Amino acid sequence: MTADPPSDDSAQRPAAVRVTSAKCVRCGEPVQPRNRPFCSQRCADADLGSWFTGRYRVETNEAPTVGPDQDEDENS
Ligand SMILES: [Zn+2]
Repeated sequence: MTADPPSDDSAQRPAAVRVTSAKCVRCGEPVQPRNRPFCSQRCADADLGSWFTGRYRVETNEAPTVGPDQDEDENS
């Protein structure tokens, strides 16, 4: 058992991970937790409308995490 120093979480993650910096999937504004994954109810409604029209699809592989820890990403 090697004595590895407690490595920082960010050091192990690929730099491309952008889940923590939540942005509205429609307009890119900072996401409000109550409207996640949107910045506002307006965008949520707009997105929902797009769903009904069938011209907009989103694959949600990423679960709406509440906390900063996401184990699933590293368990590939
Ligand atoms: Zn928005």
